[in-house]
Amino acid sequence: ELSQRLTVVGNAVPKGARLADIGSDHAYLPVALMLVGKISYAVCGEVVVGPFQSAQKQVVKSGLADKIVVRLADGLAAIKKEDEIDTITIAGMGGTLITSILENGKTQGQLSGHERLILQPNVGEANVRRWLQKEGYEILTESILAENDKIYEVIVAEKTVVKSQLTDKEIFFGPYLLAEKNSVFLKKWLQEQYALEKVLIQLQKAKVVPEEKVIAIKQELAWIKEVLE
Ligand code: SAM
Repeated sequence: ELSQRLTVVGNAVPKGARLADIGSDHAYLPVALMLVGKISYAVCGEVVVGPFQSAQKQVVKSGLADKIVVRLADGLAAIKKEDEIDTITIAGMGGTLITSILENGKTQGQLSGHERLILQPNVGEANVRRWLQKEGYEILTESILAENDKIYEVIVAEKTVVKSQLTDKEIFFGPYLLAEKNSVFLKKWLQEQYALEKVLIQLQKAKVVPEEKVIAIKQELAWIKEVLE
C-alpha cells in the first residue's frame, strides 16, 4: 500500500512510462506502478548501499526483476541511454538536493530535456521552481497534501516553449497552489509564518545581522500575510 504522498507522485506518471525513480530507497513507487500495469520499465537509482539493497530485495520479491533494474549510482548517473527513460521521479529529498541532481544530470548529459519530471521536495520547493524556470521547464501541475502531520508538495514539469515567466511570489508559493489556496496550503503557510517570525526575532537579536537575509525574510512574511488575509 503506497503512502498518499507517493500515490500523488505516481498519479502524475503517464501510462506506459519508462520511469527512472532516483533516490528510490525501498523501490515502493516503481514496484507499485509496475504491479498495476501503469509503467512498462523502470530504473531505480540509489547512491547508498543499504537502500540500494532494500530496493533490489523488493524488486526480486515482487517478481519484477525483468522489468525493474536497480542501480547503485549518484543521481541521474543511474540512467543509461538505452533505458529510453521518459519520466523521472525524485521524491522525499530536500529541494536543493533535487536541484543539484537535475543540474548534474544535465551537465553529464543524462537529462535529455524530453523527460517529464515529477518532483516531491520535502523543503526548499522554491529552489526547484527556480531551477525549472531557468532551464525552460513549464510547471504542468502542482499538488499539496498533508500526511502524518507533514505537508508535502508535488511539482510536475516538462520542457516547453515557455509562455509565461513566474513571478518571485509564484516561485515562492507555487503558481497553481497560490491560485488554488486550498486548506492544506493555508495551513502550511500559517506554520511557515510562525517559523519565519521566530527566525526574524533570532536574527534581530544577533550582533552581526545579515542584512539581505533580514530583507528576504521580511519580503516572504509580507507575501505570506497577503496570502493569508
Ligand atoms: N523516494 C523515496 C520516497 O519518496 O519515499 C525515498 C526517499 S528517501 C527519504 C531519500 C533517498 O534518496 C535515500 O534513500 C537516499 O539514499 C537517496 N539519495 C540521496 N541522494 C541521492 C543521490 N544523489 N542519488 C541517488 N539517491 C540519493
